[in-house]
Amino acid sequence: MITTTGLSKHFQDHEVLKSINIEVAAQDIVVVLGPSGSGKSTLLRCLNGLEDISGGSFEVNGIVVDATASRRLRQQATRNIRKQSGMVFQQFNLYPHKTALGNVIEGLITVKKLPKDQAVTIGRKLLDRVGLADREEYYPSRLSGGQQQRVAIARSLAMEPAVMLFDEPTSALDPELVGEVLSVMRELAQEGMTMLVVSHEMKFAREVATKIILMADGNIIEEAAPQRFFEDPKEERTRRFLRQIN
Ligand code: ATP
Ligand code: MG
Repeated sequence: MITTTGLSKHFQDHEVLKSINIEVAAQDIVVVLGPSGSGKSTLLRCLNGLEDISGGSFEVNGIVVDATASRRLRQQATRNIRKQSGMVFQQFNLYPHKTALGNVIEGLITVKKLPKDQAVTIGRKLLDRVGLADREEYYPSRLSGGQQQRVAIARSLAMEPAVMLFDEPTSALDPELVGEVLSVMRELAQEGMTMLVVSHEMKFAREVATKIILMADGNIIEEAAPQRFFEDPKEERTRRFLRQIN
């Protein structure tokens, strides 16, 4: 579903991603771990077309972006990839002047061009799915961080993405609100969504991931199934990382 081949990215002379090869198969839940500055967000931003890549190529649901292709072709592919992938950030980025329902149906109306009543029907189902059926008329300022993040997830799902990219979706939340967002993500995983998740939530990684990837300094250090990764890491760098977080 997602493949990167020798994907690299530099900002001026700073190489942030160094020839990254990643494979996310359909229905995989791949959790990316790594210290601050290792390139995790940049990787997700490249995959969602928020950053132009410097080298190599990647593919999302059959659409290929190749660094050697013309800028016009790359931009075209990137536009198509955005339609296939939903992205959820640390900051929820909801429209403050729209209600929860208004936020969820925005893309259905402006991008998918659905009539309002159809959009509302879908929007209500999605709010129900993230446990917020009773909050549809609430504006973001009256929702907790966890509720806002669940609205953001519902808004992404409205676009019927083939894959979901999460960049530390619970890092900005008070500890007591983390669980409700993770449980929505768990449910999504159980329903068969393909997900690439940057997170520091080790319990989630251990229990939900099909594969863990450790990044450091723009490289992939180690990748393995959770049990192998946590209980029998092969790389000294991984062991050091695990010691630091425990
Ligand atoms: P964190 O865990 O803190 O979120 P990260 O692994 O997500 O870290 P990135 O945000 O991908 O790390 O950043 C990787 C490196 O790229 C950092 O050294 C950062 O300073 C650099 N970087 C990211 N975006 C830019 C940019 N727009 N211009 C220049 N350098 C950038
Ligand atoms: Mg980051």
